[in-house]
Amino acid sequence: MNYEMVAGLEVHVELSTASKIFCGCVTDFGGEPNTHVCPVCTGMPGTLPVLNRTVVEFAVRTGLALRCDITRRGKFDRKNYFYPDLPKAYQVSQLYLPICRDGALDIGGGKTIGIHEIHMEEDAGKLIHDPWEDCTLVDFNRCGVPLLEIVSEPDFRSAGEVVAYLEKLREILLYLGVSDCKMQEGSMRADINLSVRPEGQAELGTRTEMKNMNSFKAIARAVESETKRQIEVLKAGGRVRQETRRWDDNKDASFAMRSKENAQDYRYFPEPDLLPVHIDDAWIERVRREMPELAEDKRRRYRADFGLPEYDARQLTSERAWARLFEETAARTGRPKAAANLIMTDIMRMTGDSGLLPEDLTLDPAKLAALIGLIEGGQINRTVGKKVLEQVFFHDVDPEAYVKAQGLLLVGDPDLVRAAVEKALADNPKSVEDYRGGKEKAFGFLVGQTMRALGGKADPQLINRLVREALAGEPAE
Ligand SMILES: [Zn+2]
Repeated sequence: MNYEMVAGLEVHVELSTASKIFCGCVTDFGGEPNTHVCPVCTGMPGTLPVLNRTVVEFAVRTGLALRCDITRRGKFDRKNYFYPDLPKAYQVSQLYLPICRDGALDIGGGKTIGIHEIHMEEDAGKLIHDPWEDCTLVDFNRCGVPLLEIVSEPDFRSAGEVVAYLEKLREILLYLGVSDCKMQEGSMRADINLSVRPEGQAELGTRTEMKNMNSFKAIARAVESETKRQIEVLKAGGRVRQETRRWDDNKDASFAMRSKENAQDYRYFPEPDLLPVHIDDAWIERVRREMPELAEDKRRRYRADFGLPEYDARQLTSERAWARLFEETAARTGRPKAAANLIMTDIMRMTGDSGLLPEDLTLDPAKLAALIGLIEGGQINRTVGKKVLEQVFFHDVDPEAYVKAQGLLLVGDPDLVRAAVEKALADNPKSVEDYRGGKEKAFGFLVGQTMRALGGKADPQLINRLVREALAGEPAE
């Protein structure tokens, strides 16, 4: 019998608002333990939460990008459970009226994943287990950091689809500017609900949940391994238990943690300390109008308006910072392909080599445009262009002033170049002889000698042509 895997994803993303969801504490990652806290986010008696408006705005923005219906009259609920990283012993979340519902995300290959709902909630603190002191420490800095939980429909049928969805979702959230989606810092993490069923069976099998997965590779491996495990259980005549499992990436296997809770275990009830959230049409329309252009739309526009190939469009939208640099440079030069090439080759390489992130770059698009103008206008050759680019990249020089000051302008006078060619031939009779004897390599040497005599500042094609002419013009004896 063949089995089919069915999975759904719950993705938690920390929002990059300046302050927490219900108080004014900063949301910065890290920091000395228990320094980004106040009586509200540590759940002191008598304190009251105040909702951060930007959290609602970010949730609406995300919902619109994922084609969701926005809930006009929503509210928050308390999810009650005790755990030492949760000082209030409840998490403010949304159960009954989540802010976004019924969305969809296309993941390529004609496949669409349904979005069941998106809700707003607060993050919990962090426990640090200290094996040396044999104790556990608690850091409440993360308490109250705003989260969106994006819940998909059980539409996944392979690990590849899961990864494609996460990559697409991450790209959208980054372009929306609502989260930095750093999986290594836990600002994007996924829970996977997975079951298997005999092919052709409509009813779903019993599912397990794997929590807080934080790398795409680990997620793909976990999905494959858990699918295999469940199929083996069923084939051996056993039953899959509904439980939460912990994925151990080092052991390449998952382990049972606890039996899975249901909603009723949390004793959800409406949060009495917060007012209902009313979102009117004008607000939604404003968010829609101010929505940043998404990567998918940029790629379409780069192909249609700039005539760039698909590969270039993908490279340039792989990070928001590249897209911005490209668009600003292209707009100033009017030569989008030249701007694309400059960024995709030398600038991406130098950035990587220097250990910088694209968003750290402070490159001035006007200077890049000026450099492109010098190269494309034939005033400097590409080799000199690379040197000037390094100066722009590392020292922020003005390309035009630098080229003039360093005397790097191309020798454009054909007579000067011709004189250099003649001298190179006269100085290297052996190479001339070799070339005429059929050694093509000697030609490259003569070109190199000419270029050197001109200080590297000549058009290589012009030298090529003149050397070729000179060699052809003096027939062998
Ligand atoms: Zn606080």
